[in-house]
Amino acid sequence: MRLVDSHCHLQADRFDADVDQVIGAARLAGVERILVPGWDPDSCRAALELVDRFPFLDAAVGVHPHDAERVDDAEWAAVAALAPDRRVVATGETGLDYDRVFSPVPAQLANLRRNLRLAADTGKPAILHCRSAAGRRDAQDALLAEIRGFGATSPPVLIHSFSGPLDYAEAMLDLGAAISFSGLSFRAGEEATAEVARRTPADRILVETDSPFLSPPGAPRRRNEPEWVRVTAAWVAELRGVDRDTFGDQLVANYDAAFAVASS
Ligand SMILES: [Zn+2]
Repeated sequence: MRLVDSHCHLQADRFDADVDQVIGAARLAGVERILVPGWDPDSCRAALELVDRFPFLDAAVGVHPHDAERVDDAEWAAVAALAPDRRVVATGETGLDYDRVFSPVPAQLANLRRNLRLAADTGKPAILHCRSAAGRRDAQDALLAEIRGFGATSPPVLIHSFSGPLDYAEAMLDLGAAISFSGLSFRAGEEATAEVARRTPADRILVETDSPFLSPPGAPRRRNEPEWVRVTAAWVAELRGVDRDTFGDQLVANYDAAFAVASS
C-alpha cells in the first residue's frame, strides 16, 4: 500500500540515534512522503536539515501552542523568515491546546494569529493542532472562530491529528480544510473520529503518525515511528469501504495537492 505521513517529528531528539533506520523502515512500509513540522525555532531549522538529507521529506515551520509563550517576537521573526524557503511546504504546527495548557490561552491565541497570518501571506497551509479537555470542545470552537475571523482572506488549513465532534469537522470542511487522522483516533473519548473519517470527502483526507507520539494499536508505546502510519491508513480505508491500493493512491495525490506550493 502506498502511504504518506503528513505529520512526523523526525527531528525530535528521540530519533537522534537512528533516524536513518527509522526512515528506511518507513520506506520499506510504503511511505512515500513525510512532512516534518517544527514547533519552535530550533526544531524548524532541524526540519530543514532533514529535508536536505532525504529528498522525499518536506518541512513545515511555525510555533506550537505549547511553545506559544516561550517564543518571543524576535524568535518568531526567525521562524517566519524560514517560511519562503522552497523546502517549506506548510506553516506549523500551530493551533490551540486547552487540554494541557502549557502556554496561557491568550498567548496561544496570539501565536495562532501570527501563524495563520504567515500561512495567508505565503499560501502555505496552516497545520492545526486542536485539543480540548475530555468532554469539552472549547478549543475547537475557538479555532473555528479564529479562522472565520479572516473572512475571504483565510489561509488554507489542515486539521492535524483530528480530535473533536462531527459538526466541528463539517464546519472545517466547509472552510476548505483537509483532515488528517492519527493514532489518536483509537483512543477512548475520540469515538466521533470514525464517523468523521467516513464522511470526509476522499480528496481531503490525510493520515499521519505525529511520531514520536500517539502510537496506534500495535506500535510501540514508547516511540511511534512513521512506518506505523499503515495502521491508521488501513483503518480509514476499511471504514470507508475502499481497497487499500486505491486509498493509498488517493493519499499520495492528496498530500501532493495539499502541499503543492513548494514544487510550483
Ligand atoms: Zn505534532
